[in-house]
Amino acid sequence: MKVAKKIVLHFTQQTIDKPIVSGLIREFNLDFNILKASISPGEVGLMIMELTGEQEDYDRGIKYLQAAGLEIQSLSQDVLRNDDRCTHCGACITMCPTRAFTLEDGTRKVLFDNSKCIVCELCVRACPPRAMELKF
Ligand code: SF4
Ligand code: SF4
Repeated sequence: MKVAKKIVLHFTQQTIDKPIVSGLIREFNLDFNILKASISPGEVGLMIMELTGEQEDYDRGIKYLQAAGLEIQSLSQDVLRNDDRCTHCGACITMCPTRAFTLEDGTRKVLFDNSKCIVCELCVRACPPRAMELKF
C-alpha cells in the first residue's frame, strides 16, 4: 500500500551536518518533498517533508531516521493563536525559527502568519498568557 505522510524532523548539532535525508531516499525507495526547512550549519534545525512510498519502506525509513538520532513528529497537528489571550508582548517574535510573527507598523501589534509555522512548539511553551495553542 502506498502512503504519503508529512513529518517534522528535528535536527541536533550532532545530526545536522550528516547526509541523513539523502540516505533515506537512496536506501528506502521513498520520494520526498521538502515543504519547509529552518536549518543553519552547526545549529539545531527543523524540516517538514512529505514522504511517499510503500508503507513497508516508509516504516523502515522512519526507523532509520530515529536510529540516526533525529526526533520525528507526525504533522497531524497545527499551532493556532487564541487572539483573545494574546497581549502582543512580542516574546514569540525572536524565538520563532521561521519568522511566523511580525510586528505591525503603527499599531505595534504582533501578527501571526500560520502558513509559515512548522509546528516546532517553541512559542506554545513560551507564550506567557498561553495564547499559542496546539491543535490536533
Ligand atoms: S508571546 Fe504570546 S502573548 Fe506575546 S505576542 Fe506572542 S502570542 Fe501574543
Ligand atoms: S510553533 Fe510557534 S515558534 Fe514554532 S514555527 Fe510555529 S509559530 Fe513559530
